[in-house]
Amino acid sequence: MLNAEIFDTAKHIIPGGVNSPVRSFASVGGTPFFTARAKDCYLYDIEGKEYIDYVCSWGANIAGHAHPTISKNLATAIACGLSFGTPTLLEVELAKQICALVPSIEKVRLVNSGTEAVMSAIRLARGAANRDYIVKFNGCYHGHCDSMLVSAGSGVITFGTSNSAGVPQPFAANTLVAEYNDVAGLTAIFEEHGDNIAGIIFEPYAGNMNLVCPTNEFIDCLNNLSRQYGALLICDEVMTGFRVALGGAQSLLAIDPHITILGKVVGGGMPLAAFGGKAEIMDYLAPLGTVYQAGTLAGNPIAVTSGLTNLQLIQQPDFYVQLSAYAQYLTHGLSEVAHQYNIEFCANSVGGLFGIYFQRELPQNLAQVNRANAELFKRFFHGMLAKGVFFAPSMFEGGFICIKHSEQVIDKTISCAREVFASW
Ligand code: PLP
Repeated sequence: MLNAEIFDTAKHIIPGGVNSPVRSFASVGGTPFFTARAKDCYLYDIEGKEYIDYVCSWGANIAGHAHPTISKNLATAIACGLSFGTPTLLEVELAKQICALVPSIEKVRLVNSGTEAVMSAIRLARGAANRDYIVKFNGCYHGHCDSMLVSAGSGVITFGTSNSAGVPQPFAANTLVAEYNDVAGLTAIFEEHGDNIAGIIFEPYAGNMNLVCPTNEFIDCLNNLSRQYGALLICDEVMTGFRVALGGAQSLLAIDPHITILGKVVGGGMPLAAFGGKAEIMDYLAPLGTVYQAGTLAGNPIAVTSGLTNLQLIQQPDFYVQLSAYAQYLTHGLSEVAHQYNIEFCANSVGGLFGIYFQRELPQNLAQVNRANAELFKRFFHGMLAKGVFFAPSMFEGGFICIKHSEQVIDKTISCAREVFASW
């Protein structure tokens, strides 16, 4: 079976041939490969080709693919039944773990996807604050719920405009959009609308416009404005949670969010996400409070088993020291070879999350990310893919390291990059 043949078939029966748009390679062109199996830091496609994987199921598989302990625990859990529709001990254990690892979370609820967690957190913030507006930042992605598919319109102080068909303008109009790292812009929004703002949602390290790090001033501004105006600080750690550090981005930056959203690593590769925060806020949720939120498969025992096991694995000594070292080894190595060939390139990493940019300086917001050389990125992506190295198929996605990426694997990646750059 060939990837191209299957993609043709898939396109007839699945919109765009994929179940999530970025998988289609739309922004880099070409044909996606179809994965048959995966192990450690490798993917194997249906043609039998091996790829070093820097996507890691978009961050979820931090301990490596098909980890034997996760597989073993899942087999045991599956034998006990797939779903019960009643509370389980496992859910309580996972909630305990999350609250212990992320101190700002006093109570937590489990859901099935990051999008669902975001949607629920926003409703909770609106219900708790009894206000409608949510502030988000251009270039941050928070899943595909209506109020988050919004980007800045024109002008400095702006109501959001929907960037997807099917989102009514009145929904988008309840989202105010600011630029990432723009203290003056955010302050101006609060000066004008502060009394009506329920919450600010943000990625503490923005990983959906490549990787953009927050400035200290920006973090101070988020903390101060939210407290000053009584808006809830909603830290979307779907990508950064348990990835940049054991305690998430909030343990590295001075943030004390009211609500935190988790996904990806917390499920260890299964569909599981969570939102949690201060008990007084979480108690607004039904059945205690008036904010409705529910889920047939929420807290599913198989997903929870995967998440619990993954959280055990990441608590092994020096896990993040090693993960960060690998990420730095990769970004330094790639930068070095790019510079040897006079290619405008820079790279950055936090814990096991990294960004590579075909431009001279690290970007601080979406406009600066857009200045990168998209053509060079595409050539790099396809050059590396041909050599069996899979980076995310878009220059707007961050990259992911797992604990199975050894120096040897990274050396191989860097020598592939050298060959690609030498061929330009
Ligand atoms: N929030 C962030 C920061 C994300 O990176 C993502 C997905 O990549 C989401 C929310 C949405 O999560 P999901 O794809 O599980 O719905």
